[in-house]
Amino acid sequence: MQRAVVATPSLTGARRSSSGSGKISIQQQDSGQNQQQLRMPPSQMSNMMDIGSRRIFNEDHDMFRESVRGWMRGVLAPQQAAFEEAGMPTRQVWEDMGAQGLLGLGLAEEEGGMGGTFRHEAIALEEACYAQCTAPNAAVHSAICIPYVAKYGSEELKRRMLPGMVAGKRVCSVAMSEPDAGSDLQGIRTTAKKDGDNYYILNGSKTFISNGIVGDTHIIVAVTNSEAKTKAHGISLIVIEDGMEGFKKGKNLKKLGLKTQDTAELFFEDVRVPAGNVLGGPDSGFYLLMSELPQERLAIAVVAAAMCEWMFEETRAYVSQRKAFGKTISSLQTVQHKMAELKANIAACRAFVDECIELHEQGALPATTAAMAKFWTTDLENRVAAECLQLHGGSGYMWDTPIAKAYANSRVQTIYGGSNEIMKELVARGIF
Ligand SMILES: Cc1cc2nc3c(=O)[nH]c(=O)nc-3n(C[C@H](O)[C@H](O)[C@H](O)COP(=O)(O)OP(=O)(O)OC[C@H]3O[C@@H](n4cnc5c(N)ncnc54)[C@H](O)[C@@H]3O)c2cc1C
Repeated sequence: MQRAVVATPSLTGARRSSSGSGKISIQQQDSGQNQQQLRMPPSQMSNMMDIGSRRIFNEDHDMFRESVRGWMRGVLAPQQAAFEEAGMPTRQVWEDMGAQGLLGLGLAEEEGGMGGTFRHEAIALEEACYAQCTAPNAAVHSAICIPYVAKYGSEELKRRMLPGMVAGKRVCSVAMSEPDAGSDLQGIRTTAKKDGDNYYILNGSKTFISNGIVGDTHIIVAVTNSEAKTKAHGISLIVIEDGMEGFKKGKNLKKLGLKTQDTAELFFEDVRVPAGNVLGGPDSGFYLLMSELPQERLAIAVVAAAMCEWMFEETRAYVSQRKAFGKTISSLQTVQHKMAELKANIAACRAFVDECIELHEQGALPATTAAMAKFWTTDLENRVAAECLQLHGGSGYMWDTPIAKAYANSRVQTIYGGSNEIMKELVARGIF
């Protein structure tokens, strides 16, 4: 894998465990090539975010993570306050992220990507969480939109769009939700009607679209066949671009959290779109969504797990120095038991998410397991956020405290990407 970020390998974390027992002598095979040491789960490291843990990673991943960590903490984190003030990140930071090689991480090098895998996408997502960087929303652009274009775009579309997307010069959103269609695709009213052989005419609107304002490229879910046996069988994914006549954007919606990211309404009035912009061919939208949504849901679970780890460590540091009744609150048994419960839950969450990442890379992550991971980890994230905020007392309620932002940001995790109630429907269908 290419590395645009300069890697400074420091793998001390790889050899450290909380027991202080040093090296573990058990060797394991890495992809049948390199011998490597048994890697501890984060719950056995001195800090859950220590580099060098987790058996799904190796020392190459550690070097990559260290580079990403340096950039996220040193360059991206200091810009978050300005993004929050503006309600969105700058276009420049997208380009900076592209220049660092942090977009299109899972895309093959032949296609202009970084030649990594979903594990690299996961590392970038986790490091953004650990550095409290909620913008840019690279998860949507890099882990969702780029795969749609790369897997289902025509050769012309790929040639025209992928290099810019990987460089951060082109920013993408994916627009499913509408005022009357969130959980239920049957409610979609946006239509794309054939206009001769070479064009579609797009009409309708979308809402709550991440990257909708800052983005210039948008993957729109629209009904292309109103006579299909169900609406789902008659939808398509159509790529449109800023500047197309009849395409307008509404205001940047004000949100409870994720204030560094833009969330938009999009309006289409007789937008003429080339037929070549339909991903995967007409009426195939439902199948494309079904095949890509597990990765979107897994990405949400990856963020949830990393946020749990960060909130735990943030709270451990806080209760270890905050004094009440003449001693630190970490010496109170109720606080200790609360932290023990959190730690056990987060350890179980990490094991499950890592198993899902591994399965996904083997092409063996069922949609129902991705749905389980999405709802279970994001429910946990919200519980952890509430408990950790409580342990911060009044300061946890102050907006400038990172735990307050984490609490607000976690709230949407159970709603978008398919609400948790819908996830349970999917899981239940696999049970009965
Ligand atoms: C910050 C943010 C960013 C977003 N980004 C995007 C984006 O980039 N692209 C995009 O397309 N969308 C995006 N969304 C939209 C998001 O995906 C939807 O809000 C979500 O799918 C829920 O749809 P809804 O809001 O219409 O709620 P509804 O579908 O109206 O649901 C309301 C409530 O009813 C429950 N419910 C609905 N049906 C059932 C059922 N059958 N059984 C049990 N309970 C049910 C839901 O779980 C929910 O609790 C975003 C939303 C937010 C808040």
